Amino acid sequence: MIALQKKDVKYVVTYNDRAFIKKIVFQNGIVLDVFPEVQEILYMQRQTSSRLTEAGGMLLGYENACTGNFTISGATEPQVEDIRSRVSLLLGKQHQELLKSLKSPYGYIGTWHTHPSKIPIPSFVDIQDWKKSIIKNSNSTSALIFIIAGTEAFRVWLCDSTRGILIEGKEL
Ligand SMILES: [Zn+2]
Repeated sequence: MIALQKKDVKYVVTYNDRAFIKKIVFQNGIVLDVFPEVQEILYMQRQTSSRLTEAGGMLLGYENACTGNFTISGATEPQVEDIRSRVSLLLGKQHQELLKSLKSPYGYIGTWHTHPSKIPIPSFVDIQDWKKSIIKNSNSTSALIFIIAGTEAFRVWLCDSTRGILIEGKEL
């Protein structure tokens, strides 16, 4: 797997109009709705100063069984047991605990984390982690969603559960 280079950046999702649901479309036609509260978490956790460490959590929501579209209605926020540095993050077990309180159809549908750059580029480690998440995914969704929040924009990928193919989404 080759890590993406800056020249490969095609799509970014802005932090504009965070009070409204943001619609993101993937090349395979799947549409993702990102609720305002999730956009606000991404926005608030941005690494906008050099002392701020990487933040992240789980994306919560559901897959529409009829359309195959996804909704991210919530996200777990940084927890005290997270191990955070400027460029790395290990989520504490509290994120898993928070998942237990969710009622069907709501569940884990991916992860988010921040990067200190304006426009985030997934690292080799990120892509490895996403592939591992797909293999471990106990949820029955056909894909998982991964978000990286940069300081000026965020980017969203959908990873197919069966083939592990990553597709980047663009704002509709
Ligand atoms: Zn990363």
